[in-house]
Amino acid sequence: MIKGTFPIEKFRELETPFYYYDTKVLRDTLETIKKEAGKYENYHVHYAVKANANPKVLGIIRESGLGADCVSGGEVRAAVEAGFPNDKIVYAGVGKTDKEINYSLDHDIFCFNVESVPELEVINELAEAKGKVAKVAFRINPNVGAHTHANITTGLAENKFGISMEDMDTVIEMAQQMNNVKFIGLHFHIGSQILEMDDFVALCNRVNELQEKLAKHHIICEHINVGGGLGIDYGHPNHLPIPNFADYFATYHKFLHLQPGQQLHFELGRAVVGQCGSLISKVTYVKQGTNKQFAILDAGMTDLIRPALYQAYHRIENITSDEAEETYDVVGPICESSDVFQKAVDLNKAHRGDLFALRSAGAYGEIMASRYNCRELPKGYTSDELV
Ligand SMILES: *Cc1c(COP(=O)(O)O)cnc(C)c1O
Repeated sequence: MIKGTFPIEKFRELETPFYYYDTKVLRDTLETIKKEAGKYENYHVHYAVKANANPKVLGIIRESGLGADCVSGGEVRAAVEAGFPNDKIVYAGVGKTDKEINYSLDHDIFCFNVESVPELEVINELAEAKGKVAKVAFRINPNVGAHTHANITTGLAENKFGISMEDMDTVIEMAQQMNNVKFIGLHFHIGSQILEMDDFVALCNRVNELQEKLAKHHIICEHINVGGGLGIDYGHPNHLPIPNFADYFATYHKFLHLQPGQQLHFELGRAVVGQCGSLISKVTYVKQGTNKQFAILDAGMTDLIRPALYQAYHRIENITSDEAEETYDVVGPICESSDVFQKAVDLNKAHRGDLFALRSAGAYGEIMASRYNCRELPKGYTSDELV
């Protein structure tokens, strides 16, 4: 079995479980994004902070020049504290509270992606109280499906996100009548872990349609934001650590008709950080069951919830054994039957004390950890720290 390269001696000194971020993979990924997006005029990439808000990871992403896409006041704060420039911070979310809006107004963020009429009214009021004008884009629900897990589609009419296409003209006109908001564009986001470029083509076609409709009313959008969603190859973290950004941006270039001077924004989360992270865990026990054996780890669904929540696959490697492979159910210690990372997986023979790497865990891993069962939150280390 081909495995990732890890500083195993350093790992031995650390308390498990913990997240490990390979900064070379992260920096190479960021370089590729800059190179591929940089081929086209007026393309701007933001990092979706919700995928991973580890300050060390955020710091590296900020250095690369990406903006920040936030979905809560806490994320706006994390972006501000990591040093992202205010004018590169965008904020979406269906339930922005007054406190979150006020914090964002105080920091003069680039844009609120507004998801309802009542929210627009509240932003206008709160901005007025501060004597400010908030820039707003409308998140439109494009009713475009994505070939991904049902829990991570967001662009269907049945989902809670955004404003319906039928209401688009009305809300834009409402915003134009208000004194303390400025309408600057449209926002979309159809889902996550999308690998079929056709899904993005469907979004492009929809955006083109909506823009034509607006043009008839002489409404111009300075900014179009198409969200994120590009997936990663969970099956091949060693062979294909960098997603196909060339194809991704080329698809938008080919199918999305930008008007002169119009700026196109992307919000990528998983594709930026997914492959640089692994959850490192120790085997507590190897237990013989009926017709099977279990490798019981000291990491559980509290550390990495994706398998339990989305039936997600993470490649598992025994990074401290080269012995002949055997078959294991790899499970955590949590008192839930869904606390299973993977069933019937072939791994180098496992012993108590072996270290396992759960790969491709950089996105929606550490940030989704919980303290259920009174467990401690996992720590996160970068390869820069462990040399
Ligand atoms: C989650 C989210 C993203 C990022 O999604 P990825 O699949 O991680 O790229 C982008 N924009 C919005 C509004 C989101 O909610």
